[in-house]
Amino acid sequence: MSDRYALIGNPVAHSKSPWIHAEFARATGQELEYGLVEAPLDGFAATVERFRTGGGKGLNVTLPFKQEAFRLCTRVSERARQAQAVNTLVLETGFGDNTDGIGLVRDLSQNLDYPFRSVLLLGAGGAAQGVVGALLEAGATKVLIANRTVARAEEVAKRFPGTAACGYESLPTQAFDLIVNATSASLADEALPVAQSAFHKKTLAYDMAYGRETPFLAAAKRAGARTSDGLGMLVEQAAESFFVWRGVRPETRPVLAKLRGS
Ligand code: NAP
Repeated sequence: MSDRYALIGNPVAHSKSPWIHAEFARATGQELEYGLVEAPLDGFAATVERFRTGGGKGLNVTLPFKQEAFRLCTRVSERARQAQAVNTLVLETGFGDNTDGIGLVRDLSQNLDYPFRSVLLLGAGGAAQGVVGALLEAGATKVLIANRTVARAEEVAKRFPGTAACGYESLPTQAFDLIVNATSASLADEALPVAQSAFHKKTLAYDMAYGRETPFLAAAKRAGARTSDGLGMLVEQAAESFFVWRGVRPETRPVLAKLRGS
C-alpha cells in the first residue's frame, strides 16, 4: 500500500495540493497518495489522530489550524518554533515544521528573481507568522507588520527583532520594495486599505492567494506596481514539505509551469 498524506484544513475542497504532490511523486518515483481532510473547527486534534491511526504518514495544515498544529507537536523545527505555526506534520514522530517562509522566499528569489530590502507584511495570522523569519534571513532590513487586530501584529513583532507593527489606519505613506498580502481578505474578495503611495514602480505586490486577480493585486496594478499571486509559494512550500517527508527534493519549475498552463 502507498504511504498516505493529506492536506487538513477548513475549507480544503478547492486545494491544488493533491495535484502538486501527485506530480512530485510521479517525477521522483515515490509511491504515495495525497488527499484532502476537512476537519471540523472544533475537531482538529481528533481528526489528526484518526488519520494517524488509520496509517497516515504526514499532513499539511492550512487555515485555520496552523497554530493548533504547533501546539500539538512533540518536537518542532527552529523555523516552526519562531513562527509558532506548523504547516507540515510528520505523524510517526510528532514532528512539526513550517515551510511557508522558505516557500515564499524561494518563489521571490528563484522564480521571480526579486531582491528586496523593505517589506510591508499585511496580516498576522499563521501564514504571516510563517514568513517573517524567512524574509529577515533572506536580507529584509525592515519588516513592518500591519494587521486589522493591531495587538496580534504587535505580539508577532515582539518575537522578531528588526520588525515593527501597526494598524491599517497608521500605515506610513512611504513606498516599500515588497508588499505581501498574507491576510485571508482576498478569499472574500475584500480590499485592504493600503495607500497608493505604499507602491512605487518597482514595488512587487505579492498576494498569497492565487488563481485570480484579487482586489489587492488590482489596486497594486493601478498604482503601477509589479504583481504576483501566491501560486509559486504554494508549489515551493509543497516541495519543501515533500522533502521533509521523503528526503527527496522535487523540481518545482515544471510543476509551476503546468499549473500556469504554459
Ligand atoms: P489566518 O491564520 O486565519 O489569518 C488570517 C489573517 O487575515 C489575519 O491576520 C486576519 O486579521 C486577516 N484578515 C482576515 N479577514 C480580513 C479582512 N477582511 N480585512 C483585513 N484583514 C483580514 O489565515 P492564514 O493561515 O494566515 O492564511 C492567510 C491567507 O494566506 C489565506 O488566504 C491562505 O490561503 C493564504 N496562504 C497561501 C499560501 C501559499 O502557499 N500561497 C500559504 C499559506 C497561506 P485579524 O488578526 O485581525 O483577524
